[in-house]
Amino acid sequence: MTLTRDDFLALDEQDILAPFADEFRIPEGLIYLDGNSLGAMPKAAMERAKHVIEQEWGTDLIKSWNKAGWFDLVERLGDKTATLIGADKGEVIYADATGLNVYKLVAAALEMRPDRKVIVMEGSNFPTDNYMVQGLIKQLDRGHEIRFAEDGEILDAIRDDVACVCITHVHYKTGHLHDMAAITKKAHDVGALAVWDLCHSAGALAVDLNGCNVDFALGCTYKYLNGGPGSQSFMFVAKRHHGKAMQPLTGWWGHDAPFGFERDYRPRKDIRQFSTGTEPIVSLAMSEVGLDIFMRADMGEIRKKSLKLCDLFIQLLDERLGGYGFSLATPKEHDRRGSQVSIYSDKGFAIMQALIAADVVGDFRAPDIMRFGFTPLYVSYVNVWDAVERLKNIMETNAWDKPEFKKVGAVT
Ligand SMILES: *Cc1c(COP(=O)(O)O)cnc(C)c1O
Repeated sequence: MTLTRDDFLALDEQDILAPFADEFRIPEGLIYLDGNSLGAMPKAAMERAKHVIEQEWGTDLIKSWNKAGWFDLVERLGDKTATLIGADKGEVIYADATGLNVYKLVAAALEMRPDRKVIVMEGSNFPTDNYMVQGLIKQLDRGHEIRFAEDGEILDAIRDDVACVCITHVHYKTGHLHDMAAITKKAHDVGALAVWDLCHSAGALAVDLNGCNVDFALGCTYKYLNGGPGSQSFMFVAKRHHGKAMQPLTGWWGHDAPFGFERDYRPRKDIRQFSTGTEPIVSLAMSEVGLDIFMRADMGEIRKKSLKLCDLFIQLLDERLGGYGFSLATPKEHDRRGSQVSIYSDKGFAIMQALIAADVVGDFRAPDIMRFGFTPLYVSYVNVWDAVERLKNIMETNAWDKPEFKKVGAVT
């Protein structure tokens, strides 16, 4: 039986997550399928920003470090995030950019395995992870090397010369989901450590860091967690490594007594050692608004809806856009994918620009991938239908084949 728009409206009627959409600001008529790149704005962020700026900064000034809990905010956000990624209280902290945290955590892992020189990474990963580790080992200058492996080759690449693996749980381009338990186990079996990047899984699916015995993890908060543009990254360090693992950027926020103002660095013995310096409080406050929505939503329901939205999108592409040379980059199996659908098309860039002009926002990743992210808190079932209809219209009318859709901006 072929699907109709009414079927999608009916699914929205029964959707228990549907009320959450009202908590996000999405411009009228816009279908936003790019929450995997920049999450939508929670409406409550406006009030919160006003309060932080007017009251906490504007009026209470420096008193707010204590009074408004600014100093502990990095840990409070960490504890909330912990509930989404299978971590315990005190194991997660917010600090710095994602790439920087890759640097810090891989450095910590390498220090714990001084006799081993190999780091296993996915060559096709989001480049900054690889770039940061390349920079790190150049600086260490102790003969480390990256062993690049792709999906399907990773387990074999983990041998007894490996110090750590650093893999991104959900691939940013294709959306494929790695087997965290199996890769972590293989790493431990050969005596290596496991660092996981959760940029495309935190807030997209229930991650089970402690269930998988993961050593270190980090992730973005401006994607699925709706923390706002450039919001700080989070880091996880398993409790068993506290006081043993040490990150190398030894700033005063990671000192045992930051307000003791001692001459020499003395590390904290807990997650706070992974902090470096004064954090952007206004931005962190925005992260909490996004997180607080997740505190009221059920991750199991989010995953269920995410899979269904993606399944339906794939089915409609198949049924309604069969003749246009699109092919699926994302695995169809549920346990092999995250919360996005990526399709290959050699005209992908122009088609995506035409689609954005038609108020369906996804993105393009060179050389040939059109990416659609599905964020169940604010994407509806009927959005899926309408997005495919608008894409169909663009293909039928060749609307993408215009010079203005072939101009490449600085950010794609
Ligand atoms: C989005 C993303 C990043 C972003 O890094 P920043 O340092 O925050 O700019 C890093 N790694 C992966 C895998 C990502 O998906």
